[in-house]
Order: sequence, then C-alpha cells, then structure tokens
Amino acid sequence: HLVTDPKYGFLRQLGLTIENPGLYDGRWGGSGKVIESISPATGKVIAKVRTSTLQEASNAITEARKAWPQWALLPAPTRGEIIRQIGEELRNNLKPLGRLVSLEMGKILPEGIGEVQEFIDICDYAVGLSRMLPGSMFPSERKNHALLEKWNPLGVIGVISAFNFPIAVYGWNSAIAMVCGNGIIWKGALTTPLVSIATTKIITGVLERNGVPGSIACLVTGGADVGETIVNDSRIPLVSFTGSTNVGRNVAIKVQERFGKCLLELGGNNALIVAQDADLEMAVRAAVFSCVGTTGQRCTTTRRLLLHSKIKDEFLGKLKIAYKCILERLGDPLDDNVLYGPLHNQHALDEYKQAIDSALQNGGKIEFGGKQINRVGFYVEPTIISGLSSKAEIVQKETFAPIVYVFEVNSLEDAIAFNNSVQQGLSSSMFTKNLGNVFQWIGPHGSDCGIINVNIGTSGAEIGGAFGGEKSTGGGRESGSDAWKHYMRRATITINYGNELPLAQGIKFE
Ligand code: NAD
Repeated sequence: HLVTDPKYGFLRQLGLTIENPGLYDGRWGGSGKVIESISPATGKVIAKVRTSTLQEASNAITEARKAWPQWALLPAPTRGEIIRQIGEELRNNLKPLGRLVSLEMGKILPEGIGEVQEFIDICDYAVGLSRMLPGSMFPSERKNHALLEKWNPLGVIGVISAFNFPIAVYGWNSAIAMVCGNGIIWKGALTTPLVSIATTKIITGVLERNGVPGSIACLVTGGADVGETIVNDSRIPLVSFTGSTNVGRNVAIKVQERFGKCLLELGGNNALIVAQDADLEMAVRAAVFSCVGTTGQRCTTTRRLLLHSKIKDEFLGKLKIAYKCILERLGDPLDDNVLYGPLHNQHALDEYKQAIDSALQNGGKIEFGGKQINRVGFYVEPTIISGLSSKAEIVQKETFAPIVYVFEVNSLEDAIAFNNSVQQGLSSSMFTKNLGNVFQWIGPHGSDCGIINVNIGTSGAEIGGAFGGEKSTGGGRESGSDAWKHYMRRATITINYGNELPLAQGIKFE
C-alpha cells in the first residue's frame, strides 16, 4: 500500500488509511465489497476502499433527503458563506489533494492541482451567485396583479462522474447545486474512490463545523449498479451524469421514464482546424496540449486535425518534432518536469491498442507513435494517424487515448462540414487570422459544438462560461453563465392584490 510509504505522506494528511470506508451518509461506512485503488503510473495498490451496497446507497438518499429542508431554508448568502469556507479548506489542501488526483487518476501534477483550483474557482463563483440568484417581476396585463418568477431548489440531486476529472466535475456540480439550496448524492468513478473520499471529508467537515448535517453532501462508492440506484430513484429530481455516450444514453432514458431531469456531459470527438492563414507556431503549440495533454483523456481532447492542404506538411512536420520532445518529458506524473503520464488503466490501454489496429486495418498510416511503452504502468506513445476516410468507424467514435487523426481540407466550408460530420458536438477550434472565417465559424452555419474556440485549442475551458456540448454529447451545460438554472425549478407566480377577479385575455366568465 502506497499509503504507508513515507514518500506519499500527503495521503495520510488527507485522512486516508490502508482501508477506507467509501460511503458517507452523515457517518462513514460501507459494507460492500472491498476494491483496490491502483496507481496508473506504477500499477501498485494505493489503498483499499469498502464500497456501498445498493441498500446503503438507497439509505444515503434517505439521509440526504432528511437533511435537505434545513439546508434549503438557509438564506442563500448564508449557504454562500459556507461554500466560501469550503473553498478556503480546498485552498488549504490544494497541494495534497492535487497530488492525490495525480497519483490516482494519472494526470500530471500541475493538472491535478489545476483540477482542485477549478473547484476553488467555482466556489468563488458560487459565493457571488449566492447574492445574485435572480428572480423576475413582469408587468401583468391585469389590474392590481403581480406576475413573478421565482427559482427554488430541486431537492437532493445525483451526481455521477467520470474518472478523468475526479474532482473538478463534482466541484462544478456541487458548488452551484449547493448554493442553489440542493443536497447531493455523489458517485464518483470506481477507479478514483480515494479522491471522492478525501474531497467528501473536506466538504462535510466544513458543513458540520457550521452546524449543518454533513449528509447534505453524501457519497456512495461503487460501479454501474450503485449508479443505477441513483438513476432509478424517483426521489432524485435531477441526475447530473458525466461519462461516456453509451452509458449516458441509458441513464437519460431511465431518468426520462420517471420524468426526472438529466444533465448530460458525454463524449466528444473534437476537431481542430488550421486554416491557410493561421499562425502555425501557435497552432502547433495549442495542438500539442489539446492532443496529448492529460494523455488524451479529456472529453475536449483533439481527436481530429483538419489541416489546410497548403500548410498540412509543414504543420505535420512541426507537430512531429513537438511530439518527440513530449516523449522526452514522459514519466511519473508526480515528478517535476514531466508533461506526459500514463493512461488511466488496463481498459484504456486495451482501447488504445484496438483503435490503432482498427485504424491500420482501414488504411491508416502511423505518422508518429502507435505502440505501448515498455515500462511499468499504462504508458503509450502519443500517436498521429493519417490516411483514413472521415467516415471510418474509428474516426467517428471517441477513443479515450492520445490518438489524433489527420485530414486535409481545402476550404473553410469543407472544414466546417467535416467538423460537423460526427455524432458528437462538444468542442471545436479554428486557427485563422481572417475575421470573415471567424464569424462564419461561430455563426449559424459554423461549428455545431457547444464550445467553439478561435486561436486556442479544443481543451482547457474556464469556469466562467457554460460548459457542455450538443448532439450525442448530451446537451447539458455546467459551471458558469446561467448553468445554475439546471439545479432549480422555476415557478411562475401570479398574485392578485386587488378586490376584483379579472381573467387573462379579457375573458368574461360571469
Ligand atoms: P463511463 O461512462 O464508463 O462512467 C462514468 C460514470 O458512470 C462512472 O461513475 C461509472 O461508474 C458510472 N456508470 C457506469 N455504468 C453506469 C450505469 N449503467 N448507470 C449509472 N452509472 C453508471 O465513463 P468514464 O470511462 O469514467 O469516462 C470517460 C468518458 O466520460 C468519456 O466518454 C469522456 O468524454 C466523458 N466525459 C465527458 C465530460 C464532459 O463534460 N462532456 C467530462 C469528462 C468525461
């Protein structure tokens, strides 16, 4: 167990031991099977976690529901003050928690810390929101009547999240949902349970210090069956699901069957277009981070490079040189100076290999990489593949690995059509200096994605905007802008403060 190794002292700082309870429903527990959390860099066991049974998951919903009324009745600025303290506590734990993200997920340390920072940032945002949650008053057509719109919390919402952002996605959901007055039941990925436990300890510690039941932020640990318990429970009015499109589709159908609401953040198949007039140096630098950053395991990772025929060879040449440099910076994600870590687990490694085989069988040519790296952990070469048809099955699907497919395009129209030719609609980006191109790209016949970038890569969003994508990416929006609306129900209220009873539209019924 790495948890007993003095080199990983930050694990004990976060309150983790050799075997950890994976259930929090006001108290820590869990009597499901014991699972091991594995370090992607070494294949070694970090610590063990006792998962939740299905009955325990259901009980946790009951506990969160019991605690919820007290939370919902607090004034929003009071909830905001508690979220501010959560942000402070995350700041105090920025480095150890960031290290844990890096150790358990496998992303490099600056990105692990960046994820915790994202949670801190959204806490700040939520604090502001707590004093700005709007309501409206519209002019009524009836004399002595007031027409209002008020937003109320939904209740206890379910958050089911993916392995690749084991804390930030929960941060986006929990900070906004809680400030809106909701309780939460969270199920993180089965392979990142320690991040879920350490995060929940921090949050519930702050809640309890403020005299609020910790069960406002319940945690369950487990796989698909524990997730389904949340999905199928009609006491959960909203399920915020982040994960693959296939799982998300079934989640959406099941939640819809019981007329619950879903917030879906599913897979992407993101393209980066480099126009003829682009600043190639900038475009290459952006492409490197977008294609190989987080070892290709971001939902916004660039999967398709659409290069204008006039600059294709030069761009590709520069990209390959950059990829060579990246290989020299491959290593343990916790080590300084490392830019490129392992894939998350054996499953991810298998998917990488299958994608390469499929690309080769379909006429693809490996321009760079293509192989597993011979060292412990799940390391693979960052890979560039050319020569495939845009319609090839492997190009149409999201492979969660550092593989990018390169294509030649000859016009802006071709590039936009190519960008839009996949089922997914998450992120997209174009490098150009031409203002006409930019407005075509962001206009009604431009990119059909939820995220449309210009002269930056496809990945690395900020919290201020609404994050999410169209088509089979699910249509959800999280984080900034007006994403808070997902976590509240809108009531239209008409108040008659006069002595008469006029009907709308002047209807007479007397
Ligand atoms: P996944 O779909 O395998 O799992 C996601 C979560 O769903 C996990 O917690 C898992 O345990 C749970 N789950 C699995 N089966 C379930 C079921 N039947 N019912 C309920 N819950 C179930 O995804 P993953 O491999 O962990 O993550 C990678 C995927 O997530 C990629 O497709 C990536 O693009 C996507 N993702 C999207 C965003 C976004 O914001 N759009 C962000 C991060 C990741």
